[in-house]
Amino acid sequence: MTETAPSKVAEQLEISCQACGSTLLLEPHLRTTVCPYCASPSVIERPPSPNRPAPSFVVGFVIGQERAAESVRNWISNTSLFARSDFKQAAPELTRGVYLPAYLYGAVADSEYSANIGEDYTETETYTTRDSKGNTVTRTRTVTKTEYRSLAGHHSTYIVDVVVTASAGVTNAALEAIEPFDLRALRRYSPAFLSGWIAEDPSRSKDDCFHLSHDESVEKVGRMLHDFMPGDSHRDLQFQTHLSREVIDLVLLPVWSFAIRYAEDQPPVQILVNGQTGRVGGKVPISAIKVTIAVVIGLAVVGGVVALFASQH
Ligand SMILES: [Zn+2]
Repeated sequence: MTETAPSKVAEQLEISCQACGSTLLLEPHLRTTVCPYCASPSVIERPPSPNRPAPSFVVGFVIGQERAAESVRNWISNTSLFARSDFKQAAPELTRGVYLPAYLYGAVADSEYSANIGEDYTETETYTTRDSKGNTVTRTRTVTKTEYRSLAGHHSTYIVDVVVTASAGVTNAALEAIEPFDLRALRRYSPAFLSGWIAEDPSRSKDDCFHLSHDESVEKVGRMLHDFMPGDSHRDLQFQTHLSREVIDLVLLPVWSFAIRYAEDQPPVQILVNGQTGRVGGKVPISAIKVTIAVVIGLAVVGGVVALFASQH
């Protein structure tokens, strides 16, 4: 393991990926020749730059490399029928543990909303049908109908625990796929946390992250308002949200990253594992050949059925 003096971090170096733009901080024994996020070999090594922004909080790793690799293996074996064979055989031993920079955002959200609220009621209606003997008979049945009334109002709520990526190597959608993180495990940041791990410097601007946080918060408010609406159902929900008393903190999140690059001109395959919960997220590379074969077989089956019908008629 790492030989770090208590409360002192081992000597570090910085690598910068020319492909995805992430800047990673690591100890010399963790030195890597490919980017852990995008598997690009164009990484540049240099001494760490001073005055890097210090994170406020950190969530520690719970899942070790072995379990992360196993999760990835299981996930890969359960993936699509059409996945590339070389992807299915890929070695998850390449998984690297990275402290991913993210912003933790909170605010007060005030919204003006309007909607049409539906109230269900039942009615008994009569209808005619034929009985088993073929006679026309009149029967009754209960039907549910909905009456709508318009509603408008003001809604206030706290928005907490919105997490958005500050990493150049991991998109917000990719991070969302392995969320949530249990933020009760949030600890005050200390450099000792990084010992033995790769850590990424925040490479998205705080402004970008504010925008991402706003979008995510408004989505969250939308879901809250949907739940908040009275009645049996509602439609035409519209709202305008104002965010105030905003708080944004830089946090480091534990993530195992597994990246493969098949060709220079193709985007890399990235699978992430939540280092706290083991949740896996990513997109499976699809084999064009397998899809083509399936389509051809599908057409052949359809053709066969058509031929069968044609011969019978
Ligand atoms: Zn990269």
